[in-house]
Amino acid sequence: MADGLDADPDLAFEHTPTSDQSFENALAKARDGTRLTVDDAIELLTTGSDDDGIDPQRKEQVLEAADRRRAEVVGEEVTFVANLNNNVTTACDVGCLFCNFKDAAQRFERDHDGENDGFTKTPAQSREIVDDALDMGIYEVCSVSGLHPAFALDDEHRGVLETLDDPDVQYTPPEAYDVDPGTYVEQIDAMNVDGVHVHSMTPEEAYHARRGTDWSYEEVYRRLRDAGLDSVPGTAAEILVPEVREAICPGKIGAEEWLTAMEAAANVGLDITATIMYGHVENAAHRAVHLQRVRELQDRTGAITEFVPLSFIHPETPLYRQGLVDGGASDDEDELMIAVSRLFLDNVEHIQSSWVKYGDEQGLKMLSCGADDFMGTILSEEITKRAGGDYGEIRTFDQYAEMIESIGRVPVERSTDYRKRRKLDADDAPLGPLLGPRADGSPMLDGVPEQPPAADD
Ligand code: SF4
Repeated sequence: MADGLDADPDLAFEHTPTSDQSFENALAKARDGTRLTVDDAIELLTTGSDDDGIDPQRKEQVLEAADRRRAEVVGEEVTFVANLNNNVTTACDVGCLFCNFKDAAQRFERDHDGENDGFTKTPAQSREIVDDALDMGIYEVCSVSGLHPAFALDDEHRGVLETLDDPDVQYTPPEAYDVDPGTYVEQIDAMNVDGVHVHSMTPEEAYHARRGTDWSYEEVYRRLRDAGLDSVPGTAAEILVPEVREAICPGKIGAEEWLTAMEAAANVGLDITATIMYGHVENAAHRAVHLQRVRELQDRTGAITEFVPLSFIHPETPLYRQGLVDGGASDDEDELMIAVSRLFLDNVEHIQSSWVKYGDEQGLKMLSCGADDFMGTILSEEITKRAGGDYGEIRTFDQYAEMIESIGRVPVERSTDYRKRRKLDADDAPLGPLLGPRADGSPMLDGVPEQPPAADD
């Protein structure tokens, strides 16, 4: 394959990483700021190579162009947000092959007597966790969860699900489980403490929150917004090309539905983000088409605050265990993904480097490949850790300031929507957040909030 990935040879894709463009032309367009095509992106992602591997000299040319563009668009500041991850439940039966976060929902049922390493939190537990983290100075709570069969959008939706006799609509009443996750509206309302920014309800979760009804995504997001939802994470995008979704997440919503849900969230006034999860079975053509779909979404909505490339973490996933992939993306591919995201998405201001996926050293390198945001403090991380990632669960303000200054850039605490910003200086350590509702500049780490016990404890 032209992109150097060792994908399953049995997967015959319609999209192949070939183009009629030359690398030189694509690079010239990238350098002068001409809007790139899918063919241009394929050339830049593969460095024009027809066989396995990346041309190191050409790669550096792409990275340089992206770094220059980053400097023109956002300058030298590197942002991050004081946030908390609060995953509500690991119960999920969707069965995505790249995911090791989920646990079969049946294991959470009262009459199940086997092992269960997962967890479900009640709305009261979520509120307590957010409340504790607010004292540490967080600005944002980010919440992405499994699709627990007992979840309903709200009481009205539960009423519909209770009376529905449709085996295709997955619903099991909360009484069947050890722990009742409540409704989505109750969870959002519970996390909405003292004006903290609530970043939650991916398109996949919104789909679950309207199953069995003909409610529009606008209606679903309106009710969630009224309960306290502030913005929507663009995860569950994976690769927005049907043939890839069929291979890695056949049970998940399709690419069109993801785009419809995101547009609906934007239509009711919510900010959104967008992601790509790459480095598994897909090739450079899929990544390029994905970028185009995100750029079109942004042309229509203007609501995407940041784009987040997420490199596939493979060790504990079914895709890897079943031999469908040999591993994840190489460092070269990671760097080119960040760089081409910056160059292709001329309408998205911020590109994120994820230390959870890349680690500190490579994460910092990404800030010279086109990225300008370095994620958030997180405080607790389950999704990547369960997939076999080992870069930890928290970064402090002192660590952030030191790391960012070490590459000659300016550390900046930001709000989720990037509208509030505050510069930091590592010489002023110890540092802490100032933008959160209860933040007073104290370091965050006097105490890390404890997770509630697993559902079967
Ligand atoms: S990625 Fe999300 S929807 Fe898919 S199995 Fe994992 S938790 Fe469930």
